[in-house]
Amino acid sequence: MDDKSWAARAREYSMYGFTDMPSVEDRGTIVLTRGEGPYVFDTQGRKWLDSNSGLWNMVAGFDHPGLIEAAKAQYDRFPGYHAFFGRMSDQTVMLSEKLVEVSPFRRGKVFYTNSGSEANDTMVKMLWFLHRSEGKPQRRKILTRWNAYHGVTAISASMTGKPYNEVFGLPLDGFIHLTCPHFWRYGNPGESEAEFVARLARELEDTIQREGADTIAGFFAEPVQGAGGVIPPAKGYFQAIQPILKKHGIPFIADEVITGFGRTGNTWGCQTYDFVPDAIISSKNLTAGFFPMGAVILGPELSDRLDAAITPIEEFPHGFTASGHPVGCAIALKAIDVVMNEGLAQNVIDKAPRMEAGLRDIMQRHANIGELRGVGYMWALEAVKDPETRQPFPGHLSVSERIANTCTDLGLICRPLGQSIVLCPPFILTDAQMDEMFEKLDAALTRVFDGLRAEGQA
Ligand SMILES: *Cc1c(COP(=O)(O)O)cnc(C)c1O
Repeated sequence: MDDKSWAARAREYSMYGFTDMPSVEDRGTIVLTRGEGPYVFDTQGRKWLDSNSGLWNMVAGFDHPGLIEAAKAQYDRFPGYHAFFGRMSDQTVMLSEKLVEVSPFRRGKVFYTNSGSEANDTMVKMLWFLHRSEGKPQRRKILTRWNAYHGVTAISASMTGKPYNEVFGLPLDGFIHLTCPHFWRYGNPGESEAEFVARLARELEDTIQREGADTIAGFFAEPVQGAGGVIPPAKGYFQAIQPILKKHGIPFIADEVITGFGRTGNTWGCQTYDFVPDAIISSKNLTAGFFPMGAVILGPELSDRLDAAITPIEEFPHGFTASGHPVGCAIALKAIDVVMNEGLAQNVIDKAPRMEAGLRDIMQRHANIGELRGVGYMWALEAVKDPETRQPFPGHLSVSERIANTCTDLGLICRPLGQSIVLCPPFILTDAQMDEMFEKLDAALTRVFDGLRAEGQA
């Protein structure tokens, strides 16, 4: 294999997930080998500023010495164990205490997985188990929203509100998707934001009436929809939704896989939007991306009800071999400390206005950017063919892919999502690095929109 490039070796033996294959045929594969702060380097020594923190998760950058040290120290001490049969590592015990302490809950309990998908999957199984044990076995349906992203396992993909899951014959029966609370895109002509929210609340109430409250196991929502295109909720949305769920006894689960640990400017997205859910799903930032790990954090009521459900059958028959892995837990403990106590969360609070101002500036220079939306350190710029009517570019032009590819050529990694470009940098970004991000993005937009105008498309 000596004469083959890394890219050719990747193409021959590795299967790619969530990758536009024609782009790979065109542009090859970037094979990364190391990182430095917010930068990543490939096998040819090329360098990119990763404005997406890897996949939202590498919030402390790619070489944080404290996190590396915490991992090494735990590998030296006790490199692996499970959490079955009444045993678990000391790190697991400490992380659960810490997660409940930093949660919005007075008390609660934590269950560990290897990913965000598995944490959502686990939460659904907990709800099914709970309702069954309480004499309501028909309470199985799950409510989520269009454009939601909850993961890729059969259950979490069914919760995800994206058309691409049709190729798997998903969603499974009993997964119901409500309107996405994106006012700019889904508000009706002449409808105010408050009327839009009232319409969505009515839709929830009508759906519950139609399906029967006694058939619904739970409602899941990301405080800000992430992989759906960075969609903060319409104003007052959660305040309108939550009382309806409460009235019908439907647990409200916040999927904080992206929004947890600082991304929106608070420890949790539910704090930014001023609600307290019944449970929180965490992953990604939980370990700052240094270990695959997810967690279900149950509030007091669900903890108690699950405890009561477990008593008669004497166990909760669920768990992963690596649930509560000691190295993952040691890294998560360190990551929480780094984010909350080394100024990373504070950076987001202090510099979010700078980030927003820079992106608004870029938007104002490009007529084909129709919307800037986001909060904290998660933002999206949406490209439109016609800013007046908000008409999107035709899909075959792949405008957001063109923008992202041009950024890549200029040394900036960002992500195309639908017609949007997503920026969610690591929390360690310096002002100079933020300016580098703005400059490269601005140059890429100029190049792509000039090209589209030359083609008569913009
Ligand atoms: C990424 C993500 C998941 C899935 O996490 P994986 O670790 O990729 O399984 C679930 N929910 C949200 C909100 C996410 O962003």
